[in-house]
Amino acid sequence: MSKHGVENPRETLACLIIDDPLLKPRYGCLDYAKLLQEMKEHMFFTEIAFIPWNYRRSHSKTIKLFADNPDYYAICVHGCNHLGNEFGGTNYQQLSSLSSTALWRMEQHKKLTGLPYDPVIVFPQGHFSSVAMKALKDQGYFAAFNSTIHSTDGKELPPIEHKRAATTTYHDFPLFLRRYPKDKSQFKEDISSGRPIIIVEHHNAFRNGYKTITDLVDWINGLGNVKWKSLSHIAEYYLGNKVAFAEQSANSLPSSFSYDAKVLLRRFLSEARDNYIETNGFLSKVYKMLRS
Ligand SMILES: [Zn+2]
Repeated sequence: MSKHGVENPRETLACLIIDDPLLKPRYGCLDYAKLLQEMKEHMFFTEIAFIPWNYRRSHSKTIKLFADNPDYYAICVHGCNHLGNEFGGTNYQQLSSLSSTALWRMEQHKKLTGLPYDPVIVFPQGHFSSVAMKALKDQGYFAAFNSTIHSTDGKELPPIEHKRAATTTYHDFPLFLRRYPKDKSQFKEDISSGRPIIIVEHHNAFRNGYKTITDLVDWINGLGNVKWKSLSHIAEYYLGNKVAFAEQSANSLPSSFSYDAKVLLRRFLSEARDNYIETNGFLSKVYKMLRS
């Protein structure tokens, strides 16, 4: 663990992660150009947790916006097919194949668009196993960022693991905790303990505009010496080594690569919800009623 992050927390790095959206001018309630304007005004950074399955679906206008603004936008790996428990199982071969398929797709996305990506992963629905951490490490990923540090196949972790910038309890593969901004006092604790501030949100955080987020950002920026950076940058800073990963696994097509009908249906339903139901107050209420 790097000394500057832990013993002398003079500078805190921060990042807002938004899960799931496609790279197109507008996804659900998220308008990338508008968010960029807010980031420039309020000084923050957004990392998009990009679903590798979507690698052929990015729009050129949004790609250009990202390429022109590397100080405000970056993308990282969000699962592979984005099925609920895809990294929560314990079959090493399967997890290894998923990990390499995800990297292969990100690499294809980079070839198609020219846009680089951070070789760090965010788990769909927060589920991961210790076996998945081993597979990800072996495939050359640099770190994971997740809303819990509890694995699906492990015991309760000792309290000290919650106090670190990142836990390396799973096969020495670094795992950072990210949080929904429900309890702001936790961000103060992050600063005093020398941890980064990593916020997670979805497109619907912008349902009523950008003020909720920018108010939070303004509050965080008022807490001390906070710098907003990409997840790769945060991982490098707190782990004290450079992001480097084995590109060979990302360049060869995994043998189990397939387009599954289940994945297709799941993406279609999720995107219909994000873009048509959650952007409409009435439909959103009906949807919630039906779900409950
Ligand atoms: Zn997701």
